[in-house]
Amino acid sequence: MKKKNGLKQVILWLLVFIFIAGIYNSLSVMNTEKDIPYSYFKAKLKNKEVKKVSIAPDMIRGEMIENNKTVRFKTIPLSDPDLIKDMEQASVDNFSGVPDRSWVTTLLFNIGWILIFILAWWFIFYRQANMAGKQAMSFAKSKARQIDNKKKKITFKDVAGCEEAKEELIDIVDYLKNPDKYKTLGGTLPKGVLLYGAPGTGKTLLAKAVAGEAGVEFFSSSGSEFVEMFVGVGAARVRDLFERAKKSAPAIIFVDELDAVGRHRFSGIGGGHDEREQTLNQLLIELDGFETKEGIILIAATNRPDVLDPALLRPGRFDRRVNVPVPDIKGRLEILKVHSSKIKMDESVDLNIIAQRTPGFVGADLANVVNEAAIIAAKNNKEKTEFIDFEEAIEKTIAGPQRKSRVISEKEKRIVAYHEAGHALVAKLLKDVDPVHKISIIPRGPALGYTLQLPLEDKYLTSKSEIISKLSIFLAGRASEEVVFGEITTGAGDDLSKATNYAQKMVMEFGMSEKIGPVSLKKDDNEVFLGRDIVKQHTYSDETAKSIDDEIKRIINDCYYKAKNILIENKQILDKVVAVLMDKETISGEELDLIINNANS
Ligand code: ADP
Ligand code: ZN
Repeated sequence: MKKKNGLKQVILWLLVFIFIAGIYNSLSVMNTEKDIPYSYFKAKLKNKEVKKVSIAPDMIRGEMIENNKTVRFKTIPLSDPDLIKDMEQASVDNFSGVPDRSWVTTLLFNIGWILIFILAWWFIFYRQANMAGKQAMSFAKSKARQIDNKKKKITFKDVAGCEEAKEELIDIVDYLKNPDKYKTLGGTLPKGVLLYGAPGTGKTLLAKAVAGEAGVEFFSSSGSEFVEMFVGVGAARVRDLFERAKKSAPAIIFVDELDAVGRHRFSGIGGGHDEREQTLNQLLIELDGFETKEGIILIAATNRPDVLDPALLRPGRFDRRVNVPVPDIKGRLEILKVHSSKIKMDESVDLNIIAQRTPGFVGADLANVVNEAAIIAAKNNKEKTEFIDFEEAIEKTIAGPQRKSRVISEKEKRIVAYHEAGHALVAKLLKDVDPVHKISIIPRGPALGYTLQLPLEDKYLTSKSEIISKLSIFLAGRASEEVVFGEITTGAGDDLSKATNYAQKMVMEFGMSEKIGPVSLKKDDNEVFLGRDIVKQHTYSDETAKSIDDEIKRIINDCYYKAKNILIENKQILDKVVAVLMDKETISGEELDLIINNANS
């Protein structure tokens, strides 16, 4: 390869030299030869000022005297039978003929140039094509970074505050460590694990820790890398990534930002993005194509599991989904411990207090706080990081642009706590409701807090009293805010829309309103098809419409007062729940039972 290149180099320089020499030659001749008309030539001849002539069929060249100087000239010959005679008369010393440069020689002469031109052209283009080819090839290569685990091993110890997520990943580690055990048993393990949660909660870190624990190769890539300008590149990169991983199996392939490729196809008017769709299809093919036996596990991360294409979530694909939550106060303490162990810290620093002061912070924020604190201490020439350095670092982090929206003030935290405790307490004290599983005042997605109820059994029928209870629970958040603060906030927006939706269904679909009676006034709410059905039609009179509205309002008001009364009657318990919530940020169902029982006894 190198030799060939050298030869090509020599040829190229030779061509360039010939080309320049040729141009120089013709230019210099052109410069020194004066182009004169034939008539002038004849006049000069008559004056005996021409000294030398050489005649070719297409050109006469020679030397003449002009202003006492010898000047070279050229002129185009005309049919002039007397030329020789005239020259003899003018006693030109030296005249001769030049052999006919017929079309053959002209052609050969020109072909030389054409050949040089073609060669140069070929050379330039060949090189370019060659390079482009190489580039196109590297396009298809995935940019995935292969991280050598032997150097700096990340393990589960480095990840804190997400114990449940870790537990769900432990059998993946076990499988990667002993694939033979699973092969003989014949069971199937998930090929794909989807980690979902807010940015900075440690999804990438968890994936790395799985690889570290199992001691396997880790291939890290990102969904956005696959979505390039050129159609087909993404798919090729996916293929390449899986091929590389298979070669060094057992291995983990990590795809960050899965939503960049895995967004619901056909979403939005105007259809999908061709390139993304191809990439997604390739990813699905790879997922379906490899057997867990091959020792490869695909771990993907997203903070938008809701927008993923359902095809990705089908059985045999990403069938294990693991939530990586925003840490609660205990989790934050654990994360702080992990990161502060890497710096020199004064013994007087109480990480508990730092955890308390950082509600809404995710792992990445806390890592940042610890790092900042160390930098601040160093700037002040301290030997160890002190508490005030942490305080300053927290403030700095809170002031950061993206975190501002996530961080909750103490006052807001209280309001959220009363709101959620309201939901939970009403749910606890009403009959016919699903048990409360967990209350939390840690933001999750757009919600500032949440109360999780899980049904004990699958249900296919819901009674009127159950719906009424549900409505009261929805409305209890706002009722609690009103009871305690005498003021209401925007935080209940989603609750209200859910409650209204239910009340509407009671009246219009389920015939659960005595006033309207057992009729269905359901709107046809098939999907709006490109504007055709945007104009809704209803089949009832305006008068009926008014009674429907009145009924919905009445039901909601009834339920709201029911919730409010429960909370007023149990204000002491409410306060207790809030106190615990403010402290721990999450409460389990059993803990809630304990608080209520203690308050009653
Ligand atoms: P994600 O992938 O969820 O956006 P990362 O895993 O990239 O978040 O986290 C960025 C950094 O924040 C990590 O390298 C780590 O230093 C820190 N971090 C995040 N979550 C945790 C955690 N749960 N425990 C310890 N450190 C964490
Ligand atoms: Zn609510």
